[in-house]
Amino acid sequence: MKTDTVSAELVAEKVIKKPKLAADSEKLEQFYLNNKPLLSSESPALKFEIFAKCSTTKARASLMHLPHFTAQTPMFMPVGTMGTMKGLTPEQLVDLDCHVILGNTYHLGSHPGQEIMEKAGGLHKFMGWNRGLLTDSGGFQMVSLLKLANITEEGVEFENPYNGEKMLLTPEESISLQNTIGADIIMQLDDVVSSLVSGPRVKEAMERSIRWLDRCIVANKNKTTQNLFPIVQGGLDVELRKTSASELSKRESPGYAIGGLSGGESKDEFWRMVDISTDILPENKPRYCMGVGYSEDLVVCSALGVDMYDCVFPTRTARFGNALVVEGSMVLKSGKYAKDHRPIDSECGCMTCTKFSRSFLHNLIITKETVGCHLISIHNIAFQMRLMREIKLAIMEDRYPEYVRSFMSRRFGNKVPLWIVNCLKSQNIDLTVPDENGYSAVPVDQDIIRVNI
Ligand SMILES: [Zn+2]
Repeated sequence: MKTDTVSAELVAEKVIKKPKLAADSEKLEQFYLNNKPLLSSESPALKFEIFAKCSTTKARASLMHLPHFTAQTPMFMPVGTMGTMKGLTPEQLVDLDCHVILGNTYHLGSHPGQEIMEKAGGLHKFMGWNRGLLTDSGGFQMVSLLKLANITEEGVEFENPYNGEKMLLTPEESISLQNTIGADIIMQLDDVVSSLVSGPRVKEAMERSIRWLDRCIVANKNKTTQNLFPIVQGGLDVELRKTSASELSKRESPGYAIGGLSGGESKDEFWRMVDISTDILPENKPRYCMGVGYSEDLVVCSALGVDMYDCVFPTRTARFGNALVVEGSMVLKSGKYAKDHRPIDSECGCMTCTKFSRSFLHNLIITKETVGCHLISIHNIAFQMRLMREIKLAIMEDRYPEYVRSFMSRRFGNKVPLWIVNCLKSQNIDLTVPDENGYSAVPVDQDIIRVNI
């Protein structure tokens, strides 16, 4: 068959067979079965058990028992805006080893809306997903998507983009919507300010977020089935972050999130804020760093003791035809892949890499076949999941520092961003000192290095 006549039918024919279960998944399961937790916490709808702690960094590997699923952490949670991942079925997400996915309350609240969601019996049933689910509060979406959002003590005021009506999202309203959606983990409504804002507004937002948290705690009707996570705020101010993290810790929540980052601040400020937060948040509870998904950030933040991440990046970049590989992004629309019959990554066990070539995907992308984005999304999520399994295994086998070094050498070669070198040094991993493989890094003063191959 010629590649210019490729069709969705051909793809459908090839995808019937399920991908093989990764060997590392089995290894992880065996570890949890054969070991006892070192530290744990128990809430009515969440039990968190830490099974391994890195002896050098703050990294840990844990099980998080949720009402719908037991998730292994550190974990990456793909974002499915309207309840389904762009073009991916719940079955495929299971095959990809996704334990928890994220739904956006703002989108779900607008369409299909609370009434339909209520009749459906919640999002799990509505979308046919029986594993873990997390919803955001809807506040961030509003502030970032709607220019007309206005924040008062009562809540976030905005104009409904569908009918122009003035609406108010209060902490109570956000929790009511999230109670109807029924996710295992729900997020407090917080007063979001861009990480680029400084001055008294940051303090005001941090303090208001605590008051809103207390209103959310009271509003949560499903305390035994839904876990409400507070969000650490405080911008890039060390003292405000410390105050926020200590105040939230007093609430004895089932888990905690670190918010207000990944919004354009320098990476050096980013990691320091994460580090301060994980130092203060209770050690025996899960910690979720919101909006983080670049592979190097996942490796670094795991060293800082973060357990959960979410980001639209892997699926968004797939829509532009970019496949994630350890060195960076493979830009599949590039003409150099037209006759390249190798898979994206010969070591990736995902359905896309098992069955399709770069050449095939290149042709799908340039002929704008939507199935092309779908196949690349599958690979990109598989890439994230495999990375997280590698991180967990390395922590369990107490070789996380070695893993971090080998990851950085594959990702960046010898030139590693300075903020990564500094952050890892704070965690007792000095990349500038040669290891037994002769690898050492030269710090470069650049926040992000994107390599297109
Ligand atoms: Zn793949």
